[in-house]
Amino acid sequence: MHIDLRSDTVTKPTKGMLKAIVEAKVGDDVYKEDPSVNALEDYLADFFGKESALYFPTGSMANQAAIKLHTNPAEQLICDKWGHVYNYEGGGVSFNSGVSCKLVDGTRGKITPELVEAAINPPDFYHSPKTSLVCVENTTNKGGGACYDISELKSIYEVCKKHNLGYHMDGARIANAIVAKKQDPKEFGKLFDTITICLSKGLGAPMGTVLIGNEKIMENAMRVRKVLGGGMRQVGFMAAAGLYALKNQFNRLKEDHIKATEIGQMLTSLKFIKNVEPVDTNIVIFYLDEVIDPTHFMANLNKMGIRISDMGDGKMRIVTHLDYTEQMHNYLLENFNKAVN
Ligand SMILES: *Cc1c(COP(=O)(O)O)cnc(C)c1O
Repeated sequence: MHIDLRSDTVTKPTKGMLKAIVEAKVGDDVYKEDPSVNALEDYLADFFGKESALYFPTGSMANQAAIKLHTNPAEQLICDKWGHVYNYEGGGVSFNSGVSCKLVDGTRGKITPELVEAAINPPDFYHSPKTSLVCVENTTNKGGGACYDISELKSIYEVCKKHNLGYHMDGARIANAIVAKKQDPKEFGKLFDTITICLSKGLGAPMGTVLIGNEKIMENAMRVRKVLGGGMRQVGFMAAAGLYALKNQFNRLKEDHIKATEIGQMLTSLKFIKNVEPVDTNIVIFYLDEVIDPTHFMANLNKMGIRISDMGDGKMRIVTHLDYTEQMHNYLLENFNKAVN
C-alpha cells in the first residue's frame, strides 16, 4: 500500500480530466487567443461575481501578483503569522513588491478585525511603513484547514474600507471552504478586491491558480504576470483540466472532509497523541506526545507505506484528497496505532 497524505497536491489527473486535456482547444494565451484559458477565466470571474480573471501557473505567483497590484515599494501588508504569503512564498513579498509584512497573532491562521485594526500604522506618521493591504487565507494551511464565516470576513472588510486598505483572499483551498460551509462564492466576490483559487489542490488539476478581481485592479495583472515570467502559450490543456475540475470534482471535496474527520476521531483515541486540532475541511493537524520521537514515528509510518508531513515541534499534518481511496482509508484507520511500535 502506498498512501501519500503529505498534501492534496500529489493527485494525478482523473480519466475524465485526461480526456478534457486531450480534447482541449488551444491557442497562444500571451495573445489571449487560447479559448480554454479564456473559458476558465470567464467561468471563475462569473463564479465569484467579479469582472475579470487571469490564469497563473502557481498559487504563489498569483498571490505575489495580487500583492504587487495592491502595493507600492516600502509599504506594508497585514497577515497572520502563519500566512502562506509570508512563510511559503520564498520571501517574494519583499523581493517582488519591496513590501514588508506585519504579522498578527491569529487563531489557527485566522485573523480578526481587532487584530487588523491594531496592526495598521497611523497614516500621518511618516516614520512607519504605510499600511496598504490585508491578506487573509481561506482555508488556512498551517492553521489546519480552518475556514471563516462570511460575517467574520465582512467585519475585516469594514476595517479595510474604513482605512482604505486593499483586501486579498489567498483562496488556495477556497473550494474546500465553500463546500464545507455551503457558502455562496459571490459573497466572497462582494468583499474582496482580489481572490486566488488553486486548481491543483483538492480540485485535482496538475497546475494552475486563477486570480480574480474587478477590471480596475486587474488592468495591470497581465503585465505583472509577464514580469514574473508567467506568460504561457498553449496552456489551454491545463486550463481545460482546471475547468473540468471545477465542474466535476468540486462537490466531491466533501468526501475528503468526511475522511479527514474520521482520521481526526481515530487520532483522538490514540494515547501517544497529545492533541488533535478541530477538523473543518481536508486537513488534520495533530501533536505527538513529547515521549514520542517524531523521526522514529515517521520512519514507522513510512514502513507501513504511509506518508504525512512533519511540520516541526511534534506538529504533524495529514491532508486527504481524491487519490486517497476508501481502501487506503480503512487500512490507515486500522493500522495507524502501530506507528509507535
Ligand atoms: C498551496 C498554497 C498556495 C500556492 O502554492 P503553489 O505551490 O505556489 O501553487 C498558496 N496559499 C496557500 C494557503 C496554499 O496552501
